[in-house]
Amino acid sequence: MGDVILYDTTLRDGTQRAGIHLTLADKVRLARRLDAFGIPYVEGGWPGSNPKDAAFFRALQDQPLERARLVAFTSTRRPGRRVQDDPALTAALDAATPAVCVVGKAWDRHVTVALGTTLAENLAMVRETVAFLKEHGREVIFDAEHFFDGFAANPDYALAVLAAADAAGADWLVLCDTNGGSLPEAIARAVRAAAAGVRAPLGIHCHDDAGLAVANSLAAVAAGCRMVQGTVNGYGERCGNANLLTVAANLELKMGRRCLPPGALAGLTALSRFVSEVANLPHREEAPYVGANAFTHKAGIHVSALLKEPALYEHVEPARVGNGRRVLVSELSGRANLRYVLGSDLDEPALARLLERIKELENQGYQFEGAEGTLALLAWEARQGVPEARQAVGRPGAAEGIVPPGSGPDADGGAPPDRPGAPGKGSGADPAAPPGRDTRDRRQAATAGVAAGIPFVVEAYRVTAAHESGVGSRAEATVKVRVGGRVIHTAAEGNGPVNALDAALRKALGEAYPNLGRVRLVDYKVRVLEGDAGTGARVRVLVECTDGQARWGTVGVSTNIVEASCQALADGLCCYLLGLHAAAAPPAAPDAAPALDPHAASPVGPDGAPSAGPDATQSTNLDDAPPAGPDPAPAVGREGSDAPQPADRGGAPPNALEGAPPAGLHVASPTASGAGPSHLADPRPTAAESYGSDAAGSPGRASGPTPGAAGRPA
Ligand SMILES: [Zn+2]
Repeated sequence: MGDVILYDTTLRDGTQRAGIHLTLADKVRLARRLDAFGIPYVEGGWPGSNPKDAAFFRALQDQPLERARLVAFTSTRRPGRRVQDDPALTAALDAATPAVCVVGKAWDRHVTVALGTTLAENLAMVRETVAFLKEHGREVIFDAEHFFDGFAANPDYALAVLAAADAAGADWLVLCDTNGGSLPEAIARAVRAAAAGVRAPLGIHCHDDAGLAVANSLAAVAAGCRMVQGTVNGYGERCGNANLLTVAANLELKMGRRCLPPGALAGLTALSRFVSEVANLPHREEAPYVGANAFTHKAGIHVSALLKEPALYEHVEPARVGNGRRVLVSELSGRANLRYVLGSDLDEPALARLLERIKELENQGYQFEGAEGTLALLAWEARQGVPEARQAVGRPGAAEGIVPPGSGPDADGGAPPDRPGAPGKGSGADPAAPPGRDTRDRRQAATAGVAAGIPFVVEAYRVTAAHESGVGSRAEATVKVRVGGRVIHTAAEGNGPVNALDAALRKALGEAYPNLGRVRLVDYKVRVLEGDAGTGARVRVLVECTDGQARWGTVGVSTNIVEASCQALADGLCCYLLGLHAAAAPPAAPDAAPALDPHAASPVGPDGAPSAGPDATQSTNLDDAPPAGPDPAPAVGREGSDAPQPADRGGAPPNALEGAPPAGLHVASPTASGAGPSHLADPRPTAAESYGSDAAGSPGRASGPTPGAAGRPA
């Protein structure tokens, strides 16, 4: 079984997808990335068709690709014209590429109807064009357009077209399923028939109109094709082309055919995300191998089995393609999900309570997919035995309508608001909210939380928003925040209520936690949960913060958008101060360098301990903890790390348990290196050897993965 040659046409066929617009700079960037990844043929465009493609080839003449053969695309000469007089062929030669791909008609009906010429003239066009390009020293790849439809309609003519290109010296004969409607068996049959009559090696070029482009490409390889043309992420006209990345992974992992240089396979996910980013298209998270959902598990029964042996619910080890395993926690979850995500240091009763809490919160509109930061905080509270500690204000089922933010702190720092059952007044009141625990319980929980090391508790706030003609809109927020033994009142202005609240919170916390200055809000989303409730609907606010490295999401829910925002903002800051942010980061690092050794991507070190990675900085350990004291000391970044000092100074440190993962979430966080930092921390056996369908040998152990970027692109 010889190697299979990959041929990328993202820059030509891929750009025919609706919604893609690549600039010249984009095209150059993508070509270099494909080159670096190890794709042997990169088709750059059709220099005769537009000035941008001509400029692209000029740009690459100055700085050629390092490994890949650059290909210019063109078509056979026009009917009735001499090859040397055809401007498209001249442009293809002017591109000065080592290889030229020339497309010619292989379906008789296309020749007579679309082209409007005779079958004999078409054969002459093919023969003369190939010969002309060969005379000019080019490697010639002949794409037989509509070959499979042509073979079905008039096999003798389709084969005659191939024979004409072959006799003229074509280096490759590529059979195209241009309309994308063929079935694998028909593809295989036609490939075998073609192979019987020609000298040049065959290639395959499939479109996905029947959802079979990858299957057809693999069937063609099995039947004898040695080149596969496709596009990254399957971009292409109509339903797209064969996804070259899916093809590559299947060839390497399922068919035992090498098509990538050593090391490249583990960069597959990163390449896919890079191309999505440059194409400015949302990454397709359900894509095989490279989507974030490809190894994401949600059902409790799946996760339970996964813990025993990952291969029970995964067809390959995710690290082999640079992806990572994720386990979601939701109302569909069982304890296995929680145990997987949160590690093994929660006892059964605590796990059960946490699961109940999550289900209760989801019932109220919370959702933790994308809000792993809030989930990490819930788990932290469960670990510390201080449930709901950080939420003196506004959490559903507890304080909504009980400590209305409208009854918040006086400007002079007067007594804390304590007006149980005073809904309807102020921005935080929710008359419809169910009665919750009384305020005293909330206070006690908050006090216990502070004692356990929670960085701060928002006890109250007040927000006013105003608009004045000629002045515009402005907002002012006052907050009352408990930090250790101190209560801090501050006020701040902003251009809107959420902005003012954010500013006031940071101002209140700035003295104790100067490192909060590193944290920025980078995304803010509002989802209306009860569409028919109009402006009185409950909303879910999802915010995403970054410290310049990791990104983490947190969530708040309320009928009051300011209240929901306050919850999410406070969770975001709290998550960072507790050092839970890095592990709570969602997956995906788009543009990191591929790992050096793709077949050595096991995430766990030789002794079963987590390999060193970015997330190692957030592990909480007694040795690292600051000395206990009455007031929380201002957080200081740990040496060699931007991670804040954990405020944890009570209860057992999460890492004190043997083999336990670092504190916080273990949501897989794949990086380009194939060394997703979070799943590196998985203390369970990888069971890599048990992935049965692996045709390319068992993966080795990671000898020292290059940590990828912790964050994901903006
Ligand atoms: Zn095509």
